[in-house]
Amino acid sequence: MRIFDPHIHMTSRTTDDYEAMYAAGVRALVEPSFWLGQPRTSPESFFDYFDSLLGWEPFRAAQYGIAHHCTVALNPKEANDPRCLPVLDELPRFLVKDNVVAVGEIGYDSMAPAEDAALATQLQLAADHGLPALVHTPHRDKLAGMRRTIDVVRESALDPERVVLDHLNETTVKEAADSGCWLGFSIYPDTKMDEDRMVTVLKTYGTEKMLVNSAADWGKSDPLKTRRTADAMLAAGFTEDDVDQVLWRNPVAFYGSSGRLQLDTPAPGDLHEGNSILRGGE
Ligand SMILES: [Zn+2]
Repeated sequence: MRIFDPHIHMTSRTTDDYEAMYAAGVRALVEPSFWLGQPRTSPESFFDYFDSLLGWEPFRAAQYGIAHHCTVALNPKEANDPRCLPVLDELPRFLVKDNVVAVGEIGYDSMAPAEDAALATQLQLAADHGLPALVHTPHRDKLAGMRRTIDVVRESALDPERVVLDHLNETTVKEAADSGCWLGFSIYPDTKMDEDRMVTVLKTYGTEKMLVNSAADWGKSDPLKTRRTADAMLAAGFTEDDVDQVLWRNPVAFYGSSGRLQLDTPAPGDLHEGNSILRGGE
């Protein structure tokens, strides 16, 4: 089984996770830039973070046979902090990089006016750079947040076919599907969406344009949720081909529209800028 995790924050994960993911079949992933759990106080913190998503993290993933790509953006939460807004002006120099396969995560957190502006600006940047967009739908007030998101997408220059609405669940999937966007589901332990509910959604809505991710990060999460969903699909009577479509071909098609996906097993290489994963350059 080959698995592509279309949304996982490996910066927050360990080498044990990389090892377990490879053993479970994960061969490719996309790491969206996101909120790090505490506020950043200057744009430069973002730029160093984007550079690590473009350099160190793909190097680390390659040590474990996994192809790593990323998305960059000003995340919805920090779009509310005026100190961070200059990030928007500098994004173009990151969006031209080979390993950037989308603009994201963008979207709404608390649905404040500053978030409206950041979302619209970044959808335009995606259109300008020929990139798709990864749009996070809010965890609170989900349906209203998603409707407002779809309105902004419709008013943007970006085709809904190039947008994934992520963190969907049973309350939002129908309207999201009607919008023409791709449908993203984050499978979490204990809360929100789980793998059995995901299987029911797939039975109801089919496997087209469906993206399943672990969204694993610094919070309680499980980087093997993609594999667990694949196993739950097989147990429920889906075929190997259905699993391959949802866990591999769909994310390849979505991010492949960037023209930048490189899916051959990466050569590990010994060093990144003189440093190895053995504590620097020992
Ligand atoms: Zn995320």
